[in-house]
Amino acid sequence: MNNNLDNQPAGRPRKIIHIDMDAFYASVEQRDNPELRDQPVAVGGSEARGVVAAASYEARKFGVHSAMPSVTAKRKCPDLIFVKPRFDVYKAVSAQIREIFAEYTPLIEPLSLDEAYLDVTENLKGMEIATEIALEIRAKIKAVTDLNASAGISYNKFLAKMASDLNKPNGQAVITPKNGPAFVAQLPVKKFHGVGPATADKMHRLGIETGANLREKEIEFLVQHFGKSGPYFYGIARGVDERQVKPNRVRKSVGAEDTFNQDIHAFGPAREGVKPLIAKVWRYCEGNEITGKTVTLKVKYADFTQITRAKSVAEGFRSPQVIEETIDSLLGAIFPTQKGIRLLGVTLSSLEPRVVGSIEQLQFTL
Ligand SMILES: [Mg+2]
Repeated sequence: MNNNLDNQPAGRPRKIIHIDMDAFYASVEQRDNPELRDQPVAVGGSEARGVVAAASYEARKFGVHSAMPSVTAKRKCPDLIFVKPRFDVYKAVSAQIREIFAEYTPLIEPLSLDEAYLDVTENLKGMEIATEIALEIRAKIKAVTDLNASAGISYNKFLAKMASDLNKPNGQAVITPKNGPAFVAQLPVKKFHGVGPATADKMHRLGIETGANLREKEIEFLVQHFGKSGPYFYGIARGVDERQVKPNRVRKSVGAEDTFNQDIHAFGPAREGVKPLIAKVWRYCEGNEITGKTVTLKVKYADFTQITRAKSVAEGFRSPQVIEETIDSLLGAIFPTQKGIRLLGVTLSSLEPRVVGSIEQLQFTL
Protein backbone atom coordinates (compact mmCIF):
# COMPACT_ATOMS: atom_id res chain seq x y z
CA MET A 1 0.00 0.00 0.00
CA ASN A 2 1.24 3.44 -0.83
CA ASN A 3 0.04 6.03 1.62
CA ASN A 4 1.66 8.74 -0.36
CA LEU A 5 -0.74 8.34 -3.24
CA ASP A 6 -3.78 8.28 -1.03
CA ASN A 7 -3.09 11.71 0.36
CA GLN A 8 -0.85 14.55 -0.66
CA PRO A 9 2.25 13.98 -2.69
CA ALA A 10 5.43 14.00 -0.66
CA GLY A 11 7.08 17.35 -0.12
CA ARG A 12 5.58 20.78 -0.09
CA PRO A 13 2.17 21.18 -1.73
CA ARG A 14 2.37 23.20 -4.89
CA LYS A 15 0.19 26.00 -6.16
CA ILE A 16 -0.65 25.59 -9.82
CA ILE A 17 -2.77 27.88 -11.96
CA HIS A 18 -4.13 26.84 -15.35
CA ILE A 19 -5.08 29.84 -17.46
CA ASP A 20 -7.28 29.33 -20.50
CA MET A 21 -8.50 32.08 -22.81
CA ASP A 22 -12.23 31.89 -23.56
CA ALA A 23 -13.10 30.87 -27.14
CA PHE A 24 -9.76 32.36 -28.05
CA TYR A 25 -9.64 32.70 -31.87
CA ALA A 26 -13.33 33.58 -32.04
CA SER A 27 -13.02 36.16 -29.25
CA VAL A 28 -10.08 37.83 -30.98
CA GLU A 29 -12.15 38.12 -34.16
CA GLN A 30 -15.11 39.57 -32.24
CA ARG A 31 -12.80 42.02 -30.51
CA ASP A 32 -11.32 43.27 -33.77
CA ASN A 33 -14.56 43.39 -35.74
CA PRO A 34 -17.49 44.98 -33.88
CA GLU A 35 -19.96 43.53 -36.40
CA LEU A 36 -19.12 40.06 -35.10
CA ARG A 37 -19.93 40.87 -31.48
CA ASP A 38 -22.83 38.95 -29.97
CA GLN A 39 -22.98 36.94 -33.20
CA PRO A 40 -22.46 33.21 -33.75
CA VAL A 41 -18.94 33.12 -35.21
CA ALA A 42 -16.85 30.19 -36.42
CA VAL A 43 -13.18 30.62 -37.21
CA GLY A 44 -12.35 28.32 -40.10
CA GLY A 45 -13.36 27.55 -43.67
CA SER A 46 -16.98 27.59 -44.77
CA GLU A 47 -16.41 25.47 -47.91
CA ALA A 48 -17.57 21.89 -48.32
CA ARG A 49 -14.62 20.24 -46.61
CA GLY A 50 -13.89 23.01 -44.10
CA VAL A 51 -13.70 22.49 -40.37
CA VAL A 52 -14.49 24.80 -37.45
CA ALA A 53 -11.26 25.75 -35.64
CA ALA A 54 -13.00 27.78 -32.93
CA ALA A 55 -16.56 28.82 -32.15
CA SER A 56 -17.87 31.86 -30.26
CA TYR A 57 -20.10 31.26 -27.25
CA GLU A 58 -23.08 32.45 -29.28
CA ALA A 59 -22.34 29.69 -31.81
CA ARG A 60 -21.79 27.10 -29.08
CA LYS A 61 -25.38 27.60 -27.94
CA PHE A 62 -26.39 25.97 -31.23
CA GLY A 63 -24.10 23.02 -30.60
CA VAL A 64 -21.29 24.29 -32.83
CA HIS A 65 -17.83 23.38 -31.55
CA SER A 66 -14.24 23.17 -32.74
CA ALA A 67 -13.24 20.26 -35.00
CA MET A 68 -16.82 20.07 -36.31
CA PRO A 69 -17.21 19.93 -40.12
CA SER A 70 -18.34 23.35 -41.33
CA VAL A 71 -21.27 21.78 -43.16
CA THR A 72 -22.60 20.33 -39.90
CA ALA A 73 -22.01 23.63 -38.11
CA LYS A 74 -23.94 25.53 -40.76
CA ARG A 75 -26.83 23.09 -40.47
CA LYS A 76 -26.96 23.50 -36.69
CA CYS A 77 -26.68 27.26 -36.92
CA PRO A 78 -27.83 28.69 -40.28
CA ASP A 79 -26.75 32.24 -39.34
CA LEU A 80 -23.22 31.16 -38.47
CA ILE A 81 -20.60 33.65 -39.67
CA PHE A 82 -17.35 32.09 -40.90
CA VAL A 83 -14.12 34.04 -40.44
CA LYS A 84 -10.70 33.13 -41.76
CA PRO A 85 -8.08 32.55 -39.07
CA ARG A 86 -5.35 35.16 -38.50
CA PHE A 87 -2.59 33.29 -36.76
CA ASP A 88 -0.20 36.23 -36.71
CA VAL A 89 -2.71 38.11 -34.55
CA TYR A 90 -3.35 35.12 -32.26
CA LYS A 91 0.39 34.65 -31.81
CA ALA A 92 0.84 38.33 -30.91
CA VAL A 93 -1.92 38.12 -28.28
CA SER A 94 -0.36 34.92 -26.98
CA ALA A 95 2.95 36.75 -26.50
CA GLN A 96 1.14 39.51 -24.60
CA ILE A 97 -0.47 37.11 -22.14
CA ARG A 98 2.81 35.23 -21.62
CA GLU A 99 4.45 38.52 -20.73
CA ILE A 100 1.82 38.98 -18.03
CA PHE A 101 2.43 35.45 -16.71
CA ALA A 102 6.15 36.18 -16.56
CA GLU A 103 5.53 39.04 -14.10
CA TYR A 104 4.47 36.37 -11.63
CA THR A 105 6.59 33.32 -12.28
CA PRO A 106 9.23 31.96 -14.61
CA LEU A 107 7.59 28.54 -14.33
CA ILE A 108 5.22 28.83 -17.30
CA GLU A 109 4.29 25.85 -19.44
CA PRO A 110 2.24 26.80 -22.50
CA LEU A 111 -0.06 24.07 -23.82
CA SER A 112 -1.10 26.04 -26.87
CA LEU A 113 -1.37 29.69 -27.89
CA ASP A 114 -4.15 30.33 -25.38
CA GLU A 115 -3.47 28.00 -22.48
CA ALA A 116 -0.70 27.60 -19.92
CA TYR A 117 0.17 26.12 -16.57
CA LEU A 118 1.84 28.41 -14.04
CA ASP A 119 3.58 27.18 -10.91
CA VAL A 120 3.17 30.04 -8.43
CA THR A 121 4.24 28.18 -5.28
CA GLU A 122 7.14 30.59 -5.18
CA ASN A 123 6.27 33.70 -7.15
CA LEU A 124 7.95 36.92 -8.08
CA LYS A 125 5.37 39.04 -6.23
CA GLY A 126 5.67 37.11 -2.98
CA MET A 127 1.91 36.57 -2.99
CA GLU A 128 0.56 33.92 -0.66
CA ILE A 129 -2.85 33.23 -2.21
CA ALA A 130 -2.91 31.65 -5.66
CA THR A 131 -6.57 32.62 -6.09
CA GLU A 132 -5.59 36.28 -5.86
CA ILE A 133 -2.79 35.78 -8.35
CA ALA A 134 -5.28 34.26 -10.80
CA LEU A 135 -7.67 37.17 -10.30
CA GLU A 136 -4.87 39.68 -10.94
CA ILE A 137 -3.63 37.87 -14.02
CA ARG A 138 -7.12 37.71 -15.51
CA ALA A 139 -7.71 41.39 -14.82
CA LYS A 140 -4.40 42.28 -16.51
CA ILE A 141 -5.19 40.10 -19.50
CA LYS A 142 -8.50 41.94 -19.82
CA ALA A 143 -6.83 45.34 -19.49
CA VAL A 144 -4.07 44.60 -22.01
CA THR A 145 -5.91 42.48 -24.60
CA ASP A 146 -9.60 43.23 -23.94
CA LEU A 147 -10.17 39.46 -23.85
CA ASN A 148 -11.53 37.18 -21.15
CA ALA A 149 -9.61 34.32 -19.58
CA SER A 150 -10.69 31.65 -17.15
CA ALA A 151 -8.49 30.06 -14.49
CA GLY A 152 -8.25 26.90 -12.47
CA ILE A 153 -6.30 26.87 -9.23
CA SER A 154 -5.18 23.69 -7.53
CA TYR A 155 -2.28 21.72 -6.08
CA ASN A 156 -1.39 19.93 -9.31
CA LYS A 157 -1.63 20.30 -13.09
CA PHE A 158 -4.43 17.81 -13.64
CA LEU A 159 -6.80 19.42 -11.14
CA ALA A 160 -5.88 22.97 -12.16
CA LYS A 161 -6.74 22.07 -15.75
CA MET A 162 -10.05 20.50 -14.71
CA ALA A 163 -10.84 23.51 -12.50
CA SER A 164 -10.40 26.10 -15.26
CA ASP A 165 -13.45 24.62 -17.00
CA LEU A 166 -15.73 24.82 -13.98
CA ASN A 167 -16.63 28.51 -14.14
CA LYS A 168 -15.92 29.22 -17.78
CA PRO A 169 -16.33 31.73 -19.40
CA ASN A 170 -14.66 34.59 -17.54
CA GLY A 171 -14.50 32.76 -14.23
CA GLN A 172 -12.20 30.81 -12.01
CA ALA A 173 -12.44 27.89 -9.60
CA VAL A 174 -10.29 26.35 -6.89
CA ILE A 175 -9.87 22.68 -6.08
CA THR A 176 -8.23 22.30 -2.68
CA PRO A 177 -6.30 19.26 -1.42
CA LYS A 178 -9.29 18.54 0.80
CA ASN A 179 -11.75 18.56 -2.13
CA GLY A 180 -9.54 17.01 -4.81
CA PRO A 181 -10.27 13.30 -4.27
CA ALA A 182 -14.05 13.86 -3.97
CA PHE A 183 -14.04 16.03 -7.09
CA VAL A 184 -12.28 13.32 -9.09
CA ALA A 185 -14.52 10.55 -7.71
CA GLN A 186 -17.73 11.99 -9.18
CA LEU A 187 -16.18 13.00 -12.51
CA PRO A 188 -16.94 10.86 -15.59
CA VAL A 189 -13.62 9.52 -16.91
CA LYS A 190 -14.43 10.80 -20.41
CA LYS A 191 -14.05 14.30 -19.00
CA PHE A 192 -10.59 13.62 -17.56
CA HIS A 193 -7.78 15.56 -19.16
CA GLY A 194 -5.52 12.94 -20.73
CA VAL A 195 -8.35 10.49 -21.43
CA GLY A 196 -9.25 10.76 -25.11
CA PRO A 197 -12.37 9.24 -26.70
CA ALA A 198 -10.65 5.92 -27.53
CA THR A 199 -9.31 5.51 -23.99
CA ALA A 200 -12.68 6.50 -22.54
CA ASP A 201 -14.36 3.79 -24.65
CA LYS A 202 -11.83 1.25 -23.44
CA MET A 203 -12.42 2.30 -19.83
CA HIS A 204 -16.17 1.98 -20.32
CA ARG A 205 -15.70 -1.56 -21.66
CA LEU A 206 -13.73 -2.32 -18.50
CA GLY A 207 -16.60 -1.00 -16.38
CA ILE A 208 -14.85 2.27 -15.51
CA GLU A 209 -17.29 5.18 -15.83
CA THR A 210 -16.22 7.56 -13.08
CA GLY A 211 -13.18 8.53 -11.09
CA ALA A 212 -14.48 6.39 -8.25
CA ASN A 213 -14.55 3.32 -10.57
CA LEU A 214 -11.03 4.13 -11.72
CA ARG A 215 -9.81 4.36 -8.16
CA GLU A 216 -10.96 0.80 -7.45
CA LYS A 217 -8.49 -0.58 -10.00
CA GLU A 218 -5.05 -1.84 -9.01
CA ILE A 219 -2.06 -0.16 -10.60
CA GLU A 220 -1.04 -3.49 -12.20
CA PHE A 221 -4.44 -3.69 -13.89
CA LEU A 222 -4.11 -0.14 -15.24
CA VAL A 223 -0.59 -0.75 -16.55
CA GLN A 224 -1.76 -4.00 -18.17
CA HIS A 225 -4.55 -2.21 -20.04
CA PHE A 226 -3.15 1.30 -20.54
CA GLY A 227 0.62 0.78 -20.55
CA LYS A 228 2.66 3.85 -19.72
CA SER A 229 -0.48 5.86 -18.92
CA GLY A 230 -1.44 3.39 -16.18
CA PRO A 231 0.45 5.09 -13.35
CA TYR A 232 -0.86 8.51 -14.45
CA PHE A 233 -4.46 7.22 -14.34
CA TYR A 234 -3.79 5.58 -10.97
CA GLY A 235 -2.58 8.91 -9.63
CA ILE A 236 -5.27 11.19 -11.02
CA ALA A 237 -8.00 8.82 -9.74
CA ARG A 238 -6.73 9.89 -6.32
CA GLY A 239 -6.32 13.55 -7.23
CA VAL A 240 -2.56 13.01 -7.43
CA ASP A 241 -0.42 14.29 -10.30
CA GLU A 242 3.31 14.70 -9.75
CA ARG A 243 4.12 16.18 -13.16
CA GLN A 244 6.12 19.37 -12.85
CA VAL A 245 5.34 22.60 -14.68
CA LYS A 246 8.02 22.57 -17.37
CA PRO A 247 8.92 26.09 -18.45
CA ASN A 248 9.64 27.10 -22.04
CA ARG A 249 8.48 23.86 -23.47
CA VAL A 250 9.15 24.99 -26.98
CA ARG A 251 9.23 21.76 -28.89
CA LYS A 252 11.41 21.66 -31.94
CA SER A 253 10.12 18.32 -33.12
CA VAL A 254 7.63 15.55 -32.41
CA GLY A 255 8.76 11.99 -32.95
CA ALA A 256 7.92 8.38 -32.29
CA GLU A 257 9.93 5.24 -32.88
CA ASP A 258 9.59 1.53 -32.37
CA THR A 259 12.01 -1.37 -32.08
CA PHE A 260 10.60 -4.53 -33.62
CA ASN A 261 10.59 -7.99 -32.08
CA GLN A 262 11.86 -9.41 -35.34
CA ASP A 263 14.00 -7.63 -37.89
CA ILE A 264 12.13 -6.37 -40.92
CA HIS A 265 13.36 -7.25 -44.42
CA ALA A 266 10.49 -6.20 -46.70
CA PHE A 267 8.67 -3.01 -47.64
CA GLY A 268 5.20 -4.28 -46.63
CA PRO A 269 5.95 -4.95 -42.96
CA ALA A 270 8.04 -1.76 -42.74
CA ARG A 271 5.09 0.20 -44.02
CA GLU A 272 2.83 -1.40 -41.42
CA GLY A 273 5.48 -0.65 -38.78
CA VAL A 274 5.55 3.09 -39.41
CA LYS A 275 1.76 3.54 -39.51
CA PRO A 276 1.20 3.60 -35.73
CA LEU A 277 4.20 5.96 -35.40
CA ILE A 278 2.64 8.42 -37.83
CA ALA A 279 -0.66 8.13 -35.97
CA LYS A 280 1.09 8.92 -32.67
CA VAL A 281 2.89 11.95 -34.08
CA TRP A 282 -0.29 13.23 -35.68
CA ARG A 283 -2.31 12.77 -32.48
CA TYR A 284 0.19 14.99 -30.69
CA CYS A 285 -0.02 17.58 -33.46
CA GLU A 286 -3.80 17.58 -33.35
CA GLY A 287 -3.85 17.96 -29.58
CA ASN A 288 -1.58 20.97 -29.83
CA GLU A 289 -2.91 22.43 -33.05
CA ILE A 290 0.45 22.28 -34.74
CA THR A 291 1.99 20.70 -37.76
CA GLY A 292 5.48 20.55 -39.26
CA LYS A 293 7.17 21.20 -42.56
CA THR A 294 9.72 18.40 -42.43
CA VAL A 295 9.20 14.72 -41.89
CA THR A 296 12.18 12.49 -41.12
CA LEU A 297 12.37 8.74 -41.36
CA LYS A 298 14.93 7.04 -39.15
CA VAL A 299 16.08 3.51 -39.91
CA LYS A 300 18.29 1.50 -37.59
CA TYR A 301 19.60 -1.76 -38.98
CA ALA A 302 20.30 -5.03 -37.18
CA ASP A 303 24.02 -4.13 -37.08
CA PHE A 304 23.04 -0.83 -35.33
CA THR A 305 24.08 1.37 -38.23
CA GLN A 306 21.55 4.11 -38.78
CA ILE A 307 20.32 6.30 -41.61
CA THR A 308 17.81 9.15 -41.80
CA ARG A 309 15.87 10.39 -44.81
CA ALA A 310 13.87 13.62 -44.76
CA LYS A 311 11.45 15.50 -46.94
CA SER A 312 9.97 18.97 -46.52
CA VAL A 313 6.83 20.60 -47.83
CA ALA A 314 6.65 24.40 -47.82
CA GLU A 315 3.04 24.61 -46.69
CA GLY A 316 3.45 22.09 -43.83
CA PHE A 317 1.86 18.65 -43.59
CA ARG A 318 -1.92 19.03 -43.34
CA SER A 319 -3.03 15.45 -42.83
CA PRO A 320 -1.65 12.11 -41.65
CA GLN A 321 -2.31 10.75 -45.14
CA VAL A 322 0.19 13.15 -46.69
CA ILE A 323 2.78 12.18 -44.07
CA GLU A 324 2.08 8.53 -44.81
CA GLU A 325 2.57 9.01 -48.55
CA THR A 326 5.82 10.87 -47.93
CA ILE A 327 7.14 8.25 -45.53
CA ASP A 328 6.12 5.53 -48.00
CA SER A 329 8.24 7.10 -50.71
CA LEU A 330 11.21 7.54 -48.36
CA LEU A 331 10.82 3.99 -47.14
CA GLY A 332 10.42 2.59 -50.67
CA ALA A 333 13.81 4.01 -51.63
CA ILE A 334 15.72 2.01 -49.03
CA PHE A 335 14.47 -1.35 -50.33
CA PRO A 336 15.69 -3.90 -51.24
CA THR A 337 17.95 -4.11 -48.20
CA GLN A 338 20.66 -6.61 -47.33
CA LYS A 339 20.47 -5.84 -43.62
CA GLY A 340 17.41 -6.38 -41.47
CA ILE A 341 15.77 -3.34 -39.89
CA ARG A 342 15.44 -3.36 -36.12
CA LEU A 343 13.99 0.10 -35.53
CA LEU A 344 11.96 2.67 -37.43
CA GLY A 345 11.25 6.24 -36.36
CA VAL A 346 9.15 9.12 -37.69
CA THR A 347 9.78 12.72 -36.68
CA LEU A 348 8.01 15.92 -37.65
CA SER A 349 10.02 19.14 -37.31
CA SER A 350 9.90 22.84 -38.29
CA LEU A 351 6.73 22.96 -36.24
CA GLU A 352 4.11 25.68 -36.68
CA PRO A 353 0.53 26.36 -35.56
CA ARG A 354 -2.21 24.88 -37.65
CA VAL A 355 -5.94 25.35 -38.13
CA VAL A 356 -7.89 22.28 -37.22
CA GLY A 357 -9.09 21.16 -40.61
CA SER A 358 -7.76 21.89 -44.03
CA ILE A 359 -6.08 25.21 -44.49
CA GLU A 360 -5.21 24.43 -48.10
CA GLN A 361 -8.93 24.58 -48.75
CA LEU A 362 -8.87 28.19 -47.65
CA GLN A 363 -5.89 28.97 -49.82
CA PHE A 364 -6.99 27.19 -52.97
CA THR A 365 -10.63 28.25 -53.03
CA LEU A 366 -10.53 31.32 -55.23
MG1 LIG B 1 -9.19 28.32 -24.58
